[in-house]
Amino acid sequence: MSAVATDIQRLREELRDRGATVKTTELPPAERVARVKEVFARRLDGNMATYLETCLHCGMCAEVCHFYEATGEGKYTPIYKVEPLRRFYRRELAPMGWLRKLVMRDITPADLDEWQKLVYDACTQCARCDMICPMGIQISPMIAVMREAIAEAGMQPAENKALAKEVLEKGTLMGVGPEDYRRVAADLAAQGIVVPLDKPKARVVMLMSAMDAMLFTSAIAATAKIMNRLGLDWTFRTNAGDAAVFDWTSGDERAKAAALRKIVAETVDAGASTLIVPECGHGYAAVRWDGANVVGAELPFEVLSISEFVGREIEAGRLKVKPLPAGKSVTYHDPCKIGRWSGVFEEPRSALKALGVEIREMESHAKTNYCCGGGAGLVLNERANKLRAGAFHIKMREADATGAGSVVTACGHCRMTFIAGAQHANWQKPIESLVELVAANLA
Ligand code: SF4
Ligand code: SF4
Repeated sequence: MSAVATDIQRLREELRDRGATVKTTELPPAERVARVKEVFARRLDGNMATYLETCLHCGMCAEVCHFYEATGEGKYTPIYKVEPLRRFYRRELAPMGWLRKLVMRDITPADLDEWQKLVYDACTQCARCDMICPMGIQISPMIAVMREAIAEAGMQPAENKALAKEVLEKGTLMGVGPEDYRRVAADLAAQGIVVPLDKPKARVVMLMSAMDAMLFTSAIAATAKIMNRLGLDWTFRTNAGDAAVFDWTSGDERAKAAALRKIVAETVDAGASTLIVPECGHGYAAVRWDGANVVGAELPFEVLSISEFVGREIEAGRLKVKPLPAGKSVTYHDPCKIGRWSGVFEEPRSALKALGVEIREMESHAKTNYCCGGGAGLVLNERANKLRAGAFHIKMREADATGAGSVVTACGHCRMTFIAGAQHANWQKPIESLVELVAANLA
């Protein structure tokens, strides 16, 4: 087993142990149902009502979900994952609900047990299903509401509960906090890589993720090399916390808000005009799409992912790279939250083109890219190992069909999923980080 694959397995085991220290649920069954309904009532808006009214039950969304494709089981059909929400709407909010109550049963605690597994183990919030529905139904935001409701009932997986508790009580993730970021910076400084920490003012604030601090300090080093080469006025703010905003899709709204508020506050405090999120699709989408919602005001800075930033700098001619020796071919895996969610498709490819590599696209790429199977926290969810492995096989099959020499991606969570999936499947394809590839070939 590779050293990183061993570390990923150790992280999963550590997380499982942390989960064992919190109770899965403390609420009586009737209270759990009541809390779920309270969230449904609060979050179900006009758009969702229209979606729930207009579903044709055509099943097209099933065909694009990697969990359905990997298993063929109807329960993994995307729209089925929101069935309790639909039932609540039809009985309690929709016209003629009083009549439906006579024939349609209410949500039960047993339903919550069943759907807890469906929405936490079999949805990576990849949003692929949202693109295919002939009625324009956005299914993934409704699955996010399902997670929020289940978390409010105290029924999220114990691992998620433990992480949210840690974020709220200690401000760290998996025990990683400011001290660890300082240690990483000191280690890099010893290698001659300057990492400016906690400057009072800077034009650019860069985040660090706990995952990079634990597994991929090479990505932090690569980022620092690029920022220094560009001569930017930049800093890492150690109190900004983990870049990944783990609770953005875990359903724990309080932990999500706490993490996002810290990131926004530190960036504002530095007076930065740009916030750059490292190779973490989750964190990028969280800040970009939810930062302003959480703080209740427009963000006074631009939010960029590192791959987007690097691609733009290369396109503008400010960052020069050396072409790699001829003959290197890669396939690029679009992280769902950076690609499909945020529209960053061209910039990473511009960087790869500048490096002179041959890009061999997978059959499903860019907007239609298949998720690697690890998004929305699934990469660390041991209970989902079998489902995740099935989803990963789809990805592996598409990458193999390109004949490319390696897979490049721009998200540490995808990278973890690929490394762990490759280990499990004894797949030999090298997995590379875009930012590391660029930094290793600066002109
Ligand atoms: S594709 Fe759209 S209309 Fe068809 S089953 Fe799925 S959600 Fe319903
Ligand atoms: S968001 Fe992705 S994983 Fe979730 S149901 Fe839709 S296609 Fe499946």
